[in-house]
Amino acid sequence: MTINIKDIAEKDRNSVLHPFTQLKDFATGKLGEPTIVEMGKGIRIQDAHGNQLIDGFAGLYCVNVGYGRTEVAEAISRQAYRLAYYHSYAAHTTDELAILSDRLVKMAPGKMSKVFYGMSGSDANETQAKLVWYYNNLRSKPTKKKIISRERGYHGCSVVSGSMTGMSFYHDHMDLPLPQIDHTGVPHHYWGANPGETEREFSARRAAELDEMIETLGPDNVGAFIAEPVLGTGGITPPPEGYWEAIQAVLKKHDVLLIADEVITGFGRTGSMFGSQHYGIEPDLITVAKGLTSAYFPLSASIVGEKVYKVMEEGADKVGAFSHGYTYSGHPIGAAAANAVLDIVEKENLPGNAREVGAYFQAQLKEKFAQLPIVGEVRGVGLMGAIEFVADRENKTRFDPSLKVGARVSKAARDRGLIARAMPHGDILGFAPPLVTTKAEIDEIVSIAEKAVRCVI
Ligand code: PLP
Repeated sequence: MTINIKDIAEKDRNSVLHPFTQLKDFATGKLGEPTIVEMGKGIRIQDAHGNQLIDGFAGLYCVNVGYGRTEVAEAISRQAYRLAYYHSYAAHTTDELAILSDRLVKMAPGKMSKVFYGMSGSDANETQAKLVWYYNNLRSKPTKKKIISRERGYHGCSVVSGSMTGMSFYHDHMDLPLPQIDHTGVPHHYWGANPGETEREFSARRAAELDEMIETLGPDNVGAFIAEPVLGTGGITPPPEGYWEAIQAVLKKHDVLLIADEVITGFGRTGSMFGSQHYGIEPDLITVAKGLTSAYFPLSASIVGEKVYKVMEEGADKVGAFSHGYTYSGHPIGAAAANAVLDIVEKENLPGNAREVGAYFQAQLKEKFAQLPIVGEVRGVGLMGAIEFVADRENKTRFDPSLKVGARVSKAARDRGLIARAMPHGDILGFAPPLVTTKAEIDEIVSIAEKAVRCVI
């Protein structure tokens, strides 16, 4: 298909409401022409002008198996020809859906029992909130409803998930957050630790703050804590030592459910199949999306642990049907895509690749960037990493936001053929390449990033 670039750009500008875009700058052309992405192969995408870009962010940390995987495209096409759709309400199913659910329950960490499907990470977290409320209503604990998330956590953009998200610019002018959601401190040792405080001491302090928050709200009013095993959009920040152990002890003490938001960390990104396994987390509920289908089809899942599900089943005589679901819950094409993607994840041992190539990647980032005068911290785990820029390393002072240092480095990288994301909070260049990335491709990524950083210094 030949694309008429001018026509497509004009139609787009006239009619698409783009997410996370300065609307006036886009409308007036200040942001330039829309990038028409035409195709992808491996870790690269190509625009309609034929320019190739290395996708150092796997779309939005999601195209884990890489672009152009014919196995997945064929699985989707086979299912579309055979049965494009049937719903999963009232005990209807498909072979792909049943196989996928059995697989997820068996591979997920902790004692998982059932899988509920949605279309996005946001709606899956919305479901988790409803499950927490449902569970506590059925246990005759009608006040145990508050959900605590973390500052700089990212859990989506719908009404409840957007409230869980702990960055104010996702709330401003949108009447969020809801009063049911509270936020506790971010576990970022570099910025948050007191002088001389070790990672373990800092983790213990964060856990003590959570404990105090639950005591203040009243344990009978707090239903769940939601967090990403590794903070993602809020800055790609692995937890400090001892964090998860300390946090889980607090949650257990107060009978507060733990929702692990594994939308980014699920299916290999940290070097383990799930981030929960990487950090010794035992969640009651798990959210997955992105890597579940490597974004070949919109599909998410709220995986429900035994503890919660048992109460739901026991309560069924009292409350009747579980009245929650979407037209597309358990969509058969999504299930077929997920099964094909999980086949690749397992056969090609992508968690193993993320571990091995990821260790090389982290070492390269440290070697090339950690000593630069404008770099405060280089951090990451597996195939997710970040470089944080600061105006003054000694005194840990940030750049004036108007200088847009992170955005300028990201733009300089893009001009040289690499997509690395300017993270929305602070001057941070983020990386999350597909999990099929090789060491040679890491060399390309790091080399372009180096040139980009040097041209902004
Ligand atoms: N949870 C996490 C950890 C995410 O990173 C994201 C998206 O980036 C979401 C939830 C929301 O997912 P979606 O954009 O599919 O709604």
